[in-house]
Amino acid sequence: MFLNVEEIIARAAPLAWPVYLYNSIGSTNTEAIRLISDTDYTAPFLVLAEQQTTGKGRRGRKWISPFAQNVYFSLVLQIDGGLQQLEGLSLVVGLAVMHSLRALSVHGAALKWPNDILVGHKKIAGILLELVGNPIDICHIVLGIGINANMQASMEIHQQWTSIQLETGFPIDRNYLIAKLWLQLQDYLTRHKTFGFIALQEEWERNHLWQGKAVSLIADVNQIDGIVLGVDRYGALRLNLDGVETIYRSGELSLRLRDDSRVRLWE
Ligand code: ATP
Repeated sequence: MFLNVEEIIARAAPLAWPVYLYNSIGSTNTEAIRLISDTDYTAPFLVLAEQQTTGKGRRGRKWISPFAQNVYFSLVLQIDGGLQQLEGLSLVVGLAVMHSLRALSVHGAALKWPNDILVGHKKIAGILLELVGNPIDICHIVLGIGINANMQASMEIHQQWTSIQLETGFPIDRNYLIAKLWLQLQDYLTRHKTFGFIALQEEWERNHLWQGKAVSLIADVNQIDGIVLGVDRYGALRLNLDGVETIYRSGELSLRLRDDSRVRLWE
């Protein structure tokens, strides 16, 4: 079944934001940024595609995005409350994605700092936030989310991955998933805007797969080994380094498990 805007809007009522659906596009995030910058489209709006030809991960990595199998979703919001509205935002998006997956019976979906959603060691969804404009003035945030829905095979993904269909054994209706995700996001974004990330910090830690685990934090060629204590009130990672609590902000950092040989496959 293909994506259907009327169906998504009917299911996601009362969220009547415009939805722009493409058959094939380079990247829904890049298109969302173009729509804000080069047209008079006003946020909030949602960009969806059946396929991305140049889907993006963090730091120039690729997000594999085959036609009519998965969800490629970019929600554009205007940020007018200053920088603190961005604190912990990508972690909050992760919570919304995780709950949408659990609602579709992927009970093992959980989080990996800063913004991956895994089932065990397998990646099922990715999040890429991009900022457009000046954060201390008016700016827009693009919340890019890729969820593996019905994909069953790919030779192109060089780390362990899964999809909803692989986990549950059944194909899912992506229109239903998108509506569910949109409503979950709305709920979490409202809570985040009203109370800040601090109100969701404990829930995030409870769902962090690597809480209490020995990890390596990698920035380029540098590696820091520690134990995950959790996240702070801004969503930064708290690591125990030889008995000393140290805080790391997301930026260019990647987190890897230390005591698991399977992790080697990911590098
Ligand atoms: P980090 O921990 O730094 O985020 P990452 O390897 O998870 O590292 P991302 O930028 O979050 O990097 O995601 C991009 C990576 O995800 C790709 O390099 C590829 O290994 C993997 N990937 C690409 N497409 C998919 C997909 N559809 N499903 C699962 N994983 C994918």
